[in-house]
Amino acid sequence: MLIGGEWVPSLSGEWADVVSPGRRGVVLARVPEGTEADADRAVQAAQAAFPAWAKLHFSQRQKALLKIADALEARVEDLAVLTAADTGNALRTQARPEANTLVNLFRYFGGVAGEFKGTVLPAGDDQLQYTRREPLGVVAGILPWNSPLMIAGMKTPAALAAGNTLVLKTAEDAPLTILLLAEICNEFLPPGVLNVVTGRGHVIGEALVTHPGVHKVSFTGSTRVGIGVGEKAAKRLAHVSLELGGKSPNIVFPDACTSELIDETATGVLTAMRFTRQGQSCTAGSRLFVHADVYDAFLEKLTEKVRALKVGDPLDEATDMGSIINQKQYDQVVNYIKDGKSQPNVRVLLDGEDFTADDLDGFYQGPTILAGVGNDWRVAQEEIFGPVLVAIPWTDRDDVIAMANDSTYGLAAYVWSQDLTAALDTANRIESGWVQVNQGGGQVIGQAYGGYKMSGIGREFSIEGAIEAFTQTKQINVKLNV
Ligand code: NAD
Repeated sequence: MLIGGEWVPSLSGEWADVVSPGRRGVVLARVPEGTEADADRAVQAAQAAFPAWAKLHFSQRQKALLKIADALEARVEDLAVLTAADTGNALRTQARPEANTLVNLFRYFGGVAGEFKGTVLPAGDDQLQYTRREPLGVVAGILPWNSPLMIAGMKTPAALAAGNTLVLKTAEDAPLTILLLAEICNEFLPPGVLNVVTGRGHVIGEALVTHPGVHKVSFTGSTRVGIGVGEKAAKRLAHVSLELGGKSPNIVFPDACTSELIDETATGVLTAMRFTRQGQSCTAGSRLFVHADVYDAFLEKLTEKVRALKVGDPLDEATDMGSIINQKQYDQVVNYIKDGKSQPNVRVLLDGEDFTADDLDGFYQGPTILAGVGNDWRVAQEEIFGPVLVAIPWTDRDDVIAMANDSTYGLAAYVWSQDLTAALDTANRIESGWVQVNQGGGQVIGQAYGGYKMSGIGREFSIEGAIEAFTQTKQINVKLNV
């Protein structure tokens, strides 16, 4: 773990194996099993580094972040390969873009470091009334395993640019890329500005959430754990952002399925479903609503494309879709597929359970597409976090919007139509923090991002969001003798 600029084991002396998702039984590394005492010393190191870091001219923090961006860029292939090994995300389709996004995020937030600034009120010549956007102090960033570098990139450079110091807690299943990120950052940051700890959520994660020295908890993970984190942070009124789960709708209109457009729309839906990240994405468009007029034709086209994805070793350049993170997640996905397949009148267009490959020994699964699904089925309501897409027909716009909104989640949504009025009316009425029209890619740098409903609280990703999320406002009113 990186604490106060030094690489240290856990005070407990315990270690945990990091097991490969793509090669069953292969231990990639071991990392310290961090405890409450380790959380405490990481927070102390961050507290000690805070005053000097916070009072720097912003351009000094900017310089450090931009140097880190360059250094990350020089190591981007190492970061990508390690992502593929550690998370099971395929190198070409996922891991490399994720590592590049990390670089871009450091560059972006380094670039806008001077924007964490206050305002002056036009209060007359005898008054100076101004605000300062002051950093919060120590931020604890708690990370999931599905795309750790990208999510660390959504928190780290913004929190640091604003003048905070940071303790990042890695996910148990995929800590390695974050340790490499820390190693690179450590060359350019004063000791204690960025600390990284490893260990279990209910031990060191909870110790960070309840630590009185942590002023903000920035959590990305499941809704279940996020609710507990929010409750505990609220007990001491710590600031908190929660980026949680999703069950996002993809709504396909007939005019997106003309003979010219059907191919492009199907590719877009495949991307939006995040099949190439094994569906392990909070923004996966995993509920597909297709207009009844084009339902069969569109699903046929989509199934043909999804069937062509090459599932395989995440480190192989030819692979489109890598491996699921671990046995527990694998079993959970299989149980959802079985549950979906057991429902009356379901049509199995693609069955991930059928996937076999003799040369692979890891948590591999093929993509699944279920048609004729009811919006109230478990597979349509619960976040599966696997490569399982459910398709539901619709005929009336009001009805499909109501079905899309009939969810406890509200993270992302995708609308496919050439009719601007229909597309924007739908986008405006969907209860989600992020809606895309006629495209299905990932977040772009600078955009707002965060959840409605049980998908979370807070926005950290855009500059406006980051200013809100990583600073607090102080108003200063001065009487001038003029
Ligand atoms: P998780 O909630 O199990 O764990 C997330 C992190 O929280 C891990 O580091 C874990 O160790 C830690 N943790 C667990 N218990 C804790 C506790 N009691 N106190 C403090 N920390 C604790 O989630 P996961 O399985 O790692 O990730 C998958 C989930 O994350 C999915 O639900 C997915 O939708 C969500 N996710 C959301 C976003 C987003 O931006 N909204 C992005 C990625 C993943």
